[in-house]
Amino acid sequence: MTTRQVRKRCQALVGALDLPRPFSVEALIHELSVRRGRPILIHTVSLGSSLNACGLWIATEGSDNIYVEEKTTKFHQEHIILHEIGHILCDHGITDQENQGALSTLLPSISPELISRLLARTNYTTEQEQEAELVASLIHAAAGMLTPSPSTGVRGALEAALGIRE
Ligand SMILES: [Zn+2]
Repeated sequence: MTTRQVRKRCQALVGALDLPRPFSVEALIHELSVRRGRPILIHTVSLGSSLNACGLWIATEGSDNIYVEEKTTKFHQEHIILHEIGHILCDHGITDQENQGALSTLLPSISPELISRLLARTNYTTEQEQEAELVASLIHAAAGMLTPSPSTGVRGALEAALGIRE
């Protein structure tokens, strides 16, 4: 796919989302869980360097589990969650026996038999990573989380006071 096709596909995916208002990552996760009929569960763990990843999505028979590095900021964690949601929405599922073994060592509470799909950043193609990252950015943008409108809040009031506001 060309970059333009990737962008179009991601825009369509994000456009089809019913983004909660007011937006929060928690509300989005709830929305998606209901829509997919599968709970998305967030776990904060110390992934460390063992997986060369700061986020991880594991689909089991009954749920989608997102693992997020605990030793980072809330903003970064939310970005990781959106990135992993990007992988879920794009359906970037793969099976990797070797990594299932590595993960069952790291997260012994999950039995390897339960893990039907396992995803670590290192297993994705560059294109899949771009897609997931793009979906995360588009959700950010759609939710207005990145940059508040320049003509609201303090700056809007200032512009109005200065008579430069249209
Ligand atoms: Zn990724």
